[in-house]
Amino acid sequence: WAKQNGRDNAKFYEPHMAEKVSGQFQFEQEIKEALDSHQMFLVYQPQVDSSSDRIFGLEALIRWQHPEKGLVSPAEFIPVAEESTLINKIGEFVIDSVLRRLSKWQQDKVDVVPVAVNISGRHLISEGFPQFIERSLRHYKVDGRWLKIEITEGVFIHDVHESIEIMSALKTLGVEISVDDFGTGYSSLHYLKMLPLDILKIDQSFVLESGDGAEGDKICEAIIQLAQNLDLQVIAEGVETELQAKVLNDLGCNLHQGFYYFRPESEETVGERLRQQSKRLA
Ligand code: C2E
Ligand code: MG
Ligand code: MG
Ligand code: MG
Repeated sequence: WAKQNGRDNAKFYEPHMAEKVSGQFQFEQEIKEALDSHQMFLVYQPQVDSSSDRIFGLEALIRWQHPEKGLVSPAEFIPVAEESTLINKIGEFVIDSVLRRLSKWQQDKVDVVPVAVNISGRHLISEGFPQFIERSLRHYKVDGRWLKIEITEGVFIHDVHESIEIMSALKTLGVEISVDDFGTGYSSLHYLKMLPLDILKIDQSFVLESGDGAEGDKICEAIIQLAQNLDLQVIAEGVETELQAKVLNDLGCNLHQGFYYFRPESEETVGERLRQQSKRLA
């Protein structure tokens, strides 16, 4: 961390920075230890097709059970991890855990659905990322179509050409790519068209505002139309009420994720849901 930011930091240096920096360093050490000592684990939130009530996918979300602080939210430690290559370690941990889980489910004859993982833009464009994915898929004997990657918009504008190259390599493996939190970043429509994307995820802030006739409806409508025009799937995130679900359905979006349907759940609970779903559909 020091090496990376050292030079530019000098001119901003103030006395309190020393504390901040050592606090950051300590937190990073803790994250590192947590990864090594099994304090990190994944929960899975089912994604539902409201037209059939079928679970069509899962999103893997990381959790940190800290020995003293209890459950630490990813909103707290992911941004810190993103300051360094620690975020790559986290990404690798998540991908490894998801593929191991998928492989176990397949051995147990569970009808699996694709699992989406959140990957930092920094990790995506780091050296050897597609190769890591390819090796991991091969190692666990899991087909690439069961893995999806969610990226927030930021990275695209900085490294469009690199992003295109890496995403194309992932797509060759069958791995689909979603833009997470869509609408909060800066993607120009031009980039969206250039990138080999598959899915837009409407940010939950717009979904939460929808359903009371407010601006949220209009933004959701615009994103849904944009996705349709660009031939992308669209998933609404943060669906909490029946009314929101209905508004989204009426706007033509029936792929939903949110507390109205399911909270993020343990792998055991989600595995059981998938088993029951295959029985129901059989
Ligand atoms: P995200 O990728 O946009 O994930 C969706 C977040 O919304 C999750 O929070 C989920 O629990 C929450 N959520 C789902 N449905 C609802 C709902 O109906 N209402 C509300 N209020 N919230 C809902 P979580 O798990 O706390 O994760 C927060 C963020 O942290 C994620 O946002 C993602 O950006 C990041 N994150 C989580 N896990 C990972 C990970 O494994 N790797 C990376 N790089 N980032 C992660
Ligand atoms: Mg996500
Ligand atoms: Mg999101
Ligand atoms: Mg988010």
